[in-house]
Amino acid sequence: MDAHWAPTAGKLTVSVVIPLYNEQENLPELDRRLRATLEPLNVAYEIVYINDGSRDQTLSILQGLAQDGRHLVVNLSRNFGHQAAVSAGIDHARGETVVVMDGDLQDPPELIPAMLEQWRAGNDVVYAVRRNRKESAWKRIAYFAFYRLLNHLSHVPIPEDFGDFSLMARRVIDTIKASPERNRFVRGLRA
Ligand code: UDP
Ligand code: MG
Repeated sequence: MDAHWAPTAGKLTVSVVIPLYNEQENLPELDRRLRATLEPLNVAYEIVYINDGSRDQTLSILQGLAQDGRHLVVNLSRNFGHQAAVSAGIDHARGETVVVMDGDLQDPPELIPAMLEQWRAGNDVVYAVRRNRKESAWKRIAYFAFYRLLNHLSHVPIPEDFGDFSLMARRVIDTIKASPERNRFVRGLRA
C-alpha cells in the first residue's frame, strides 16, 4: 500500500472516505460534485480515495486530480474488497469527522452538509438511509437475510438497510481503530 499524503492544513473538520473499485465512469462526476458541495461550506476538508486494486483507469484519474491538498489517495496493492478498503481509508483519515460513502454515485454527496449539521447538533453517528434500493430482488433478499442473521447473533442491534453512507465523530473513529478486529465489519462496529 502506498499513500500520497495531502499536506496537513491545520485542523480538518471532515474527511470523506471513498473506496473505489473500477469507478472510472463515476469518479470524475463524483469528485466534481463533492468539491462543489464541500467548497462553499468554508470548512477544512480532505477527500480520501482508496483505490482497491482497480483494473480500469481509476488510478490514473486519481493521479490527475487537483493537487491542492484536498485529496489523499491511498493505493492498495491489489483488490482487498470493500470493507478492507473502507478500513484503510478510516486509518488514514485525519478529520474531526469522517464521512464514509460509496464511489458509484449511489450516495449523493449533496447530503454531507446536512450530516455535518447533525454532528454539530451533538450526534456522534449520523446515518443516511436509502429510501429505495435500486439493487435486484435477489440482492435485497440477501441483505435482508444477512442482517436478520447478524442481529440474531449480535448483542448490539445493527440497523438493517443502512449502508456505509454515514458520518462518524472522531471519538467513534478512534474507538473503531482501537478495536482488535483484523477484518473490521465497519457497519457493525459503528453500531
Ligand atoms: N468497492 C471496493 N472494492 C471492491 C468492491 C467495491 O472498493 O472490491 C467499492 C466500489 O467502488 C463502491 C463501493 O465499494 O465505491 C460499493 O461497492 P458496490 O457498489 O459494488 O456495493 P453495493 O452498492 O452493491 O453495496
Ligand atoms: Mg453500489
